[in-house]
Amino acid sequence: MGYVDLHCHSTASDGTLAPADVVRAAQESNVTALSLTDHDTVAGVADAASVAASLGIEFLPGIEISCRYPKPGTLHLLGYGVDPGSAALGELTRKLIRGRDERNVRIVAALQEQNVAITVEEVENVAGGDVIGRPHIAQVLVSKGYVNSIKQAFNKYLAPGGSAYFDKEVFSPADAIQTVLDAGGVPVLAHPVQLRCENSAQLATVVKNLVDLGLQGIEVIHSDHSPQDIDQMTDLARRYHLLKTGGSDFHGGNKPGIALGSANGRRVPREWFETLRARVKR
Ligand code: AMP
Ligand code: FE
Ligand code: FE
Ligand code: ZN
Repeated sequence: MGYVDLHCHSTASDGTLAPADVVRAAQESNVTALSLTDHDTVAGVADAASVAASLGIEFLPGIEISCRYPKPGTLHLLGYGVDPGSAALGELTRKLIRGRDERNVRIVAALQEQNVAITVEEVENVAGGDVIGRPHIAQVLVSKGYVNSIKQAFNKYLAPGGSAYFDKEVFSPADAIQTVLDAGGVPVLAHPVQLRCENSAQLATVVKNLVDLGLQGIEVIHSDHSPQDIDQMTDLARRYHLLKTGGSDFHGGNKPGIALGSANGRRVPREWFETLRARVKR
């Protein structure tokens, strides 16, 4: 049957491996099917798809869209099987990238005011593509010796509560779900633990509201999910008739300790990929 990985990042967003190298790494991890889900872009899926075809790995184009949600939570929407040429998706990603660029300028200015000497150009140079995020800023902070790790860069400067944190302009979950649907994709809620709901009733309400907007799946297996989280998301999938998905959320060196094909020691069954792919085709 085999195992799959339906959540990973490349240099098209904030991963450190090029799209083609992510696919090669997936093959080395004995993954038989893969979806590349870069933040706010599908720029990497063409390269990944062609290498996957040459290696005999099945591939589903994907995206992970940052959505509006009250802090301290974050809401990320996965879109599987989207058409990379979709005009609606192109418009959304362009706006999201512009929102990131505006935020990055503010973050760098705040850091400079704190006598942290980094520039937007340095940040752009470590990013491989158009989607530039906080992990790239963190990489520069590490390489210039201002912090010892990506984690420390977030804690001190870049996470909410850090001294250089700013929001970026994003869309509502309703708009993101509709855009994924317009692009022919299947909308799936990523890593529900990151919503940071206070209890299971609150999480169920959030999921129900998303289902009413068109959500079709929920990420059950993820590197941030404990066995109890997996049970909880499995229950929600059953309750709301949602597809189950899973993946590592591999980012290469930007998330040390996360390997492709494995989420906190768990592997994602190939059957979940087959069911998802069947839904995409329908
Ligand atoms: P951005 O897309 O610029 O808002 O940055 C969000 C990305 O930063 C996430 O997708 C993760 O890859 C990473 N990230 C977020 N919070 C942390 C954290 N506390 N430590 C390390 N990486 C983080
Ligand atoms: Fe990321
Ligand atoms: Fe995410
Ligand atoms: Zn991710």
